[in-house]
Amino acid sequence: MAKDPLVIDGFASVQAVRRAGKNKKDPHYGSSRTRLPAASAKDTPKTPAGPRGKIGHTVMPDTFEVVCYECGYTFTMRGQLRKTYCAKCRKTLVVDEQIIDSAWSGRVKTIGTVQVRDGGSLSNAHVVVGDLILDGHIEDSTVKICRRLELGSHASGDIAKIDTRDILIRRDAKVSYRSKLHCENFIVEGDFRGTIEVSGLVTVMAGAFLQGRVKAARLLLHEGGGLKATVKIAGKSKQ
Ligand SMILES: [Zn+2]
Repeated sequence: MAKDPLVIDGFASVQAVRRAGKNKKDPHYGSSRTRLPAASAKDTPKTPAGPRGKIGHTVMPDTFEVVCYECGYTFTMRGQLRKTYCAKCRKTLVVDEQIIDSAWSGRVKTIGTVQVRDGGSLSNAHVVVGDLILDGHIEDSTVKICRRLELGSHASGDIAKIDTRDILIRRDAKVSYRSKLHCENFIVEGDFRGTIEVSGLVTVMAGAFLQGRVKAARLLLHEGGGLKATVKIAGKSKQ
């Protein structure tokens, strides 16, 4: 472990890639537009919800990463995602897609996506979810995200209390946050100011900007990405 943090200031145009490490758990770059297809519509034949291009299934990925909310096991599924079983613990996994655009309290448990839009809020909610797209407010809630938390410009509240594997700052989002955020992988596609502690990889995409304090195992700065931060890279992630 390095004693002194490396301070990087200004726009770097280097790729600080560390390929040696085990990359299995790293996010797939550029797949942030990927959504689990909505499984609610009963009469959807072959084409899942989402971008409906003429090119058919080459537009949509046909495999999905599913993280079991019961045992944490990660596996992939082909085709349209519906109610399924964990490949390991055999528990039934529910696929629910939910959009929240007003004040909401309650419970939801799904391997799908919950989206809290601008103007929406979670309070006294208990959420276990595959992905959470948060562009609203959150307070007094327990949230466990098996895959990824995506933050938009209007995300506010107890974000630091959210238990999530990965965090993504959405493209065009400007997020500034005071409390330290913890996760396994942190991906910046927009603009983020704050303090992060990441056990795996921090990725700054082209056109993105990361400012603040960064502690991570690895850092990948894409050409055209900006970084102005106190950076401490610990090397290999702990197993
Ligand atoms: Zn399981």
